[in-house]
Amino acid sequence: MEKTDLIIIGGGAAGLMAGVAAGELGLKALVLERKHKPGRKLLMCGNARCNLTTNISGERMLQMFGEPVGPFLAPSIRAFDPSMLQRWFSANGLKTVVKTGNKVYPHTEQASDVLNLFADQLREKEISLACSSTVQALEKTENGFCVTSGNFVVESRFVLVATGGVSYPKTGSVGDGQEWAKKLGHTLERYRPGLVGFEVEPKVLKGRVGTIYEKVEVEIVSGGKKAAETRGFYEIEKWGVGGTAITDASRFIARNNFKDYELIIKLADGRTEKIRPLRTRPVKEAMVTVGGVALDEIDSQTLESKKCPGLYFAGEVLDIDGPTGGYNLQAAFSSARLAVASIGKRCGKGGFQSLEKAPKRWKRK
Ligand SMILES: Cc1cc2nc3c(=O)[nH]c(=O)nc-3n(C[C@H](O)[C@H](O)[C@H](O)COP(=O)(O)OP(=O)(O)OC[C@H]3O[C@@H](n4cnc5c(N)ncnc54)[C@H](O)[C@@H]3O)c2cc1C
Repeated sequence: MEKTDLIIIGGGAAGLMAGVAAGELGLKALVLERKHKPGRKLLMCGNARCNLTTNISGERMLQMFGEPVGPFLAPSIRAFDPSMLQRWFSANGLKTVVKTGNKVYPHTEQASDVLNLFADQLREKEISLACSSTVQALEKTENGFCVTSGNFVVESRFVLVATGGVSYPKTGSVGDGQEWAKKLGHTLERYRPGLVGFEVEPKVLKGRVGTIYEKVEVEIVSGGKKAAETRGFYEIEKWGVGGTAITDASRFIARNNFKDYELIIKLADGRTEKIRPLRTRPVKEAMVTVGGVALDEIDSQTLESKKCPGLYFAGEVLDIDGPTGGYNLQAAFSSARLAVASIGKRCGKGGFQSLEKAPKRWKRK
């Protein structure tokens, strides 16, 4: 049986970043991915342009995540904030560019370049990535963990679960990590769709299907009181309403478990619409999953489980989600790096090379 320091389960945003981070620290690590290619969801991000983060301070970003996600993510984001993320990509050969709304993209505006960077870095740092390797079981052993896939069994001292949420299951994230977590004693927070549109009465659509309104403000009203406000696009779809102002509202509603609510939509020309949505679109259509492994059972300083020592989590498998604008990738990347830094310490490795003084390319071996 093969043995390694760290097995990373999932080759999405969090798992790929974790693999590269493990390489930066000189850990012996293996990334296992169920699909025949990694990063299926990453390739879809930002309409295939990949909105990597938002160009604001880490502290502002934490406020925008809100409770309970912001406080939980604080150690992760402070250790690898939006400016460090941009410097990291640049240092690894992919410059970033800031566009409208402070949204940060790779300068080529191609998600495939982000994926290629990760693949190149894994190869350069000699971190193996095994695709078409669906992990079927994760068990605790006396000295670590035993990970079983269809045709091999691997043992490691530490495991990082980065299997994603349950949205867009065709990309490979179907909730396996949450099920293993449950078997290993964790509580799961109920799944709700975050960043999704709403179905509405057909009369709301009024022959407007395909219309996109810009610079719209949406007031979320619950129990007769304004609960929050979002800004962005408002789009009339065949099945209902979407656009960033609406999807951000859906996340707020899911996070606060509102049952009774309405949306007051203020268009740029001064007109106002009041909508009482029938329901949200399903979680499989949401850009992010609200719910997952309960945050109070994970040490936010290290991302290690409080229930199962040696087991770490990063990315959307946890009950973390953010608004549109690159928050979710930032959360995946930052949590992955903090988890690997914590594992590195346990293996007697030093910290990451400072991003302040990073050379244009990381030094090759
Ligand atoms: C259409 C769309 C657009 C988006 N755009 C943006 C954007 O522009 N900016 C942004 O910040 N966020 C965006 N998001 C959200 C963002 O993509 C996710 O939050 C992020 O990808 C989560 O990363 P993750 O690594 O936790 O999970 P994922 O990216 O879902 O990766 C999980 C990986 O684990 C693998 N896996 C699962 N189970 C197993 C198993 N049993 N064995 C082996 N491998 C397994 C999966 O195949 C998958 O590759 C978007 C999401 C969608 C759906």
